[in-house]
Amino acid sequence: MGEQTEPAKRRLGVMGGTFDPVHHGHLVAASEVASQFHLDEVVFVPTGQPWQKSHRAVSPAEDRYLMTVIATASNPQFSVSRIDIDRGGPTYTVDTLRDLRALNDDADLFFITGADALAQILTWHNTDELFSLAHFIGVTRPGHILANPGLPDDRVSFVEVPALAISSSDCRARVAEGEPVWYLVPDGVVRYIAKRRLYRHDG
Ligand code: ATP
Ligand code: MG
Repeated sequence: MGEQTEPAKRRLGVMGGTFDPVHHGHLVAASEVASQFHLDEVVFVPTGQPWQKSHRAVSPAEDRYLMTVIATASNPQFSVSRIDIDRGGPTYTVDTLRDLRALNDDADLFFITGADALAQILTWHNTDELFSLAHFIGVTRPGHILANPGLPDDRVSFVEVPALAISSSDCRARVAEGEPVWYLVPDGVVRYIAKRRLYRHDG
């Protein structure tokens, strides 16, 4: 019998977000990180519905889920998970990662998030557990690589992505004002927003 070598672990990116709506900033970030970190797959994980909306109503989870499916369908490396939606309530990163860890024990997880959001996550949560679950990748606008104060380099990385100026809030404001979101979000998402009358004052 030959020597047993450990099979290389699958490298699974995890892109959490509200995705209200998903836009090309999210897609470019996932694509760029997948390339730089040699990921086999990136799973987009729309958040559960918050119990209490502080200042705005988040669109129904099914709409956010379907827009994310529409946006990612053409990329064989991208998929969408319902775990946070089906768990219900507000989403905590540690729950997302615990559940994905349990479902993918053959994979190393890479959690992709905005650099600002990353700083918050690492403040609120038990970082020892988070770092045991995933490698964290903070995406930043070109020229804005953050200093990495005290974060372990083997557990946290920063990546510059183009197209970071797009945000879901801006897309929602545009739709509310009757301005176009063509080319900020995928074509199918433009049509889904119109079909479901999302983000309109009279919606
Ligand atoms: P909102 O404007 O409502 O805050 P958003 O555009 O930040 O929405 P989210 O669904 O909150 O979208 O973002 C999901 C994840 O994607 C977050 O980690 C966020 O930091 C990151 N992200 C958001 N916009 C971009 C972008 N243009 N480029 C790269 N990453 C982004
Ligand atoms: Mg945001």
